[in-house]
Amino acid sequence: MNLKIKRIIRGTYKDAFIYGKTGLWNVCCENGIVKKITRSQNSESALHKLIPSMTDTHNHFMAYGITQVSADLQGTTTIEEIKEKIRTYIKAYSPNFVIAEGWDENFIKEKRMLEKSDLNNISKRIPVIARRLDGHITIINDFAIKYLKKLNLKVNEDGILLEELSLSISNYFEYSNDLVRLGMRKAIENAKDMGVSGVCDFLTERYYNYYINNLDLLSDFQVDYYLIHPFYIENPMENENFHFKGMKTFLDGSIGANTAMVSFPYLNGKGNGKLIYSNDELIRLIGASLTKFEKIALHAIGDIAIEQALNVIEYYKNESDRFRLEHLEFITKEQIARLSKLKTGVSMQPNFIGMWGNYGGMYEEKFGDIFIKNNPIKSVRDAAYSFSFGSDDMPFSPAYGIYWATNHPNKGESLTLDEAIKSYLGTPLNYLNFLEED
Ligand SMILES: [Zn+2]
Repeated sequence: MNLKIKRIIRGTYKDAFIYGKTGLWNVCCENGIVKKITRSQNSESALHKLIPSMTDTHNHFMAYGITQVSADLQGTTTIEEIKEKIRTYIKAYSPNFVIAEGWDENFIKEKRMLEKSDLNNISKRIPVIARRLDGHITIINDFAIKYLKKLNLKVNEDGILLEELSLSISNYFEYSNDLVRLGMRKAIENAKDMGVSGVCDFLTERYYNYYINNLDLLSDFQVDYYLIHPFYIENPMENENFHFKGMKTFLDGSIGANTAMVSFPYLNGKGNGKLIYSNDELIRLIGASLTKFEKIALHAIGDIAIEQALNVIEYYKNESDRFRLEHLEFITKEQIARLSKLKTGVSMQPNFIGMWGNYGGMYEEKFGDIFIKNNPIKSVRDAAYSFSFGSDDMPFSPAYGIYWATNHPNKGESLTLDEAIKSYLGTPLNYLNFLEED
């Protein structure tokens, strides 16, 4: 089933029902922005239903922009297709390097990870880098191994990069600003087509600089951003469309990479994940960060990582409103009860339910029956002080997320369509602010 949410583009809507507002309204729009809104005197039923533009509260928007001008591997279903896409990209752009993104062995016929030899096959003359959809694993060719070693990075001869180096690989390659601009334009256009007028992004140094050089492109698009630890700068840039929020760090990895830290085993015999920090390290890091940043976003997917996140927030309890929790995919009932006592915001990704958390999906394969406990969006939404959806670009599509938010395999965790849409409105941005002012 396909759910499409059309953005408001232009024109005047008379006697419209606006999602989330009572009564009927006349709404005048230009270029996707509401210019004027007045209350309608009509008490008849609405002619139009308007949905405010949405906010994707967990997005890697610059990375998404870059994939618009690079080899986008999302949706590929064979190793050969991956190779073909990268070769096509090389032919079209003659680049000095390739960073292709978005493969996922769960959707590849061969059911195996990409390997270095696959990429050596494509080119031996330039670095070829192919990052897994979740960002936590990257495969690189021999040329890229040589290149990264010259930069004094520790790289294994198997060409597999994990976690931190995988997540920050963009720092070691620079796209021309023309390409960055083209990618950003396409990304913003796509976002608007999906009804999204703002995102929250998480930035490495390279991606931060890409934004700084192209802030003019954000004239009618809103970006909140966090710096990914350990990237730090004094006085990060801000303007009316580009809002600095704080720092983000990872407490564990991803389920796809077998690195999300859970209290139950991965059935493919890969332990139960790992924590990035010891408890003491984390308390120290957060203590120092609270003096430097207004907000702190913590990535926690497995229940053990979530436990650690809750422990550290409770340790700094008076500051609990300065934290955000990302994902919380395997949060337990007890942890949800603890969360309900804090003023902490949560961003969850309902699209993960459809990608991996449904019957027969990767989570069932890796965890058995426990899979059904993934992404308890309704319980978390009810408990959390503030709650919103984001896509994490897997895929970037609110409609896909909203569909799965209403179709959780555990019926008790499904939201109604209205509730799901509301969770995608995020922090009120320009459109909603406008409505509130009326
Ligand atoms: Zn993310």
